[in-house]
Amino acid sequence: MQQLTVYNSLSGKKEVFTPITKNYVGMYVCGPTVYSNVHLGNCRTFISFDLIFRYLKHIGYKVRYVRNITDAGHLENDADEGEDRIAKKARLEAIEPMEVVQRYTVDFHKTLYQFNNLPPSIEPTATGHIIEQIEIIKSILKKGFAYEINGSVYFDVLKYNETHSYGKLSGRKIEDLIHNTRSLDGQSDKKNPQDFALWKKAEPRHIMRWPSPWSDGFPGWHLECTAMSTKYLGNQFDIHGGGMDLKFPHHECEIAQAECITEQSPVNYWLHANMLTLNGQKMAKSTGNNILPEEMFSGENSIFTKPFSPEVVRFFLLQSHYRSIVDLSEDALLASEKGYNKLKEGYLLLTQLTSSTKTEGFDIAQWEDLCYKAMSDDFNSPMLIAQLFEAIRFINSVNNGSASISKSDQLKLVEKMKNFIEDIMGISFGKSKKSDSNTALEGTVNMLIDFRKIARDNKDFQTSDRIRDELSGLGIQLKDEKDGTSFII
Ligand code: AMP
Ligand code: ZN
Repeated sequence: MQQLTVYNSLSGKKEVFTPITKNYVGMYVCGPTVYSNVHLGNCRTFISFDLIFRYLKHIGYKVRYVRNITDAGHLENDADEGEDRIAKKARLEAIEPMEVVQRYTVDFHKTLYQFNNLPPSIEPTATGHIIEQIEIIKSILKKGFAYEINGSVYFDVLKYNETHSYGKLSGRKIEDLIHNTRSLDGQSDKKNPQDFALWKKAEPRHIMRWPSPWSDGFPGWHLECTAMSTKYLGNQFDIHGGGMDLKFPHHECEIAQAECITEQSPVNYWLHANMLTLNGQKMAKSTGNNILPEEMFSGENSIFTKPFSPEVVRFFLLQSHYRSIVDLSEDALLASEKGYNKLKEGYLLLTQLTSSTKTEGFDIAQWEDLCYKAMSDDFNSPMLIAQLFEAIRFINSVNNGSASISKSDQLKLVEKMKNFIEDIMGISFGKSKKSDSNTALEGTVNMLIDFRKIARDNKDFQTSDRIRDELSGLGIQLKDEKDGTSFII
């Protein structure tokens, strides 16, 4: 198996990845709070972890990938006061909270499917794990790291910090936290402002509530991830991920909640994807500085002058390392579209090259090694893409006669390119994912269009005309245009 190096946010450096159980990886990624459509920033994080999931599987690990759905407990402004985000949306639209959850969970799945993300192994919900969350609170209370007050339970950060190290993931010092946290306004039951809620007593009008030993109420946001990660992956597991903005307080609190019960670090490798920005500012639901994937695919937005396909957007995101900030701009997307088309054309051309008796001008084994080295160095997709363009350069050289490839190397290179482009990067050329029931039909027609192009490039007009005529007989009209063939059913 490949030796993999990953950047661990906990140690602040790259480490050789050694899973707890040989050949098996347990990975947990914080999922969305389903109170609105996912924006492209959210997708960046989920595409980053899709790349990681795909690569771990590709190099031979059996991966249990758990990604939750936050359908309760996430209050406005990530704070312990204010309205539940889902309940608020339900109130504003006069619908059931679970209608809000259903609508935006469906949107989330549809969007990630369009981006060709693989589904996780388990997708648990916060509301489906209230009992587990209550049990964890009981354990924390028993250990003396939480206190109950007026039906709510809070985690005692100062007490915890006497024997543990609160802030070790985000690098925050407790003194600074005390200094910088807004003082309590007399409305809160907390002893100290840096304490966080494990259980909140529900106000009479709060509709999302469950019975507990302390009150009819609801769990704190940080608790659900501790409950669901440890339930499905164990008290200690390999990888925990999410966006950089979750490091503090969310992940810091997760560590405190788990560590105070088990006295062991719950996670061996903390991985964080960096932010997608728009106009230099973090893309976020709350500020309105965001764009929805669907608006990019359709072109119906006031930011870009043309639509961009899910494949191009995915390729654009993978052109940056998952730990770098990416700014979304038309120029950058246009450049990615060009690069994507170059890669697609080169990849198609590879299958059509005329082979020679031997390969000259390229060492496939060495090239493959460099591709794996890139990905095994903390999932460096931009380095991998640079290597893919090296292969495209060679393919073009064979095509123009300045290099040559043997038949067996041609087949080998097709297989390797497929591994890196389709299996690892999740780029499926021209097979744009549609969420409606026509997906299979559209995929089949696109495949026939590809075959027809190959036939035409080989001057086999009999076959290409037959494909066109037979599709026409079935009511499917092909339209040849400057940048490819489209179809109308
Ligand atoms: P949320 O639904 O807001 O809790 O976010 C879901 C996931 O998207 C979390 O892992 C966030 O860290 C991540 N996320 C939110 N905004 C961005 C952004 N602008 N760029 C990248 N990831 C983001
Ligand atoms: Zn989480």
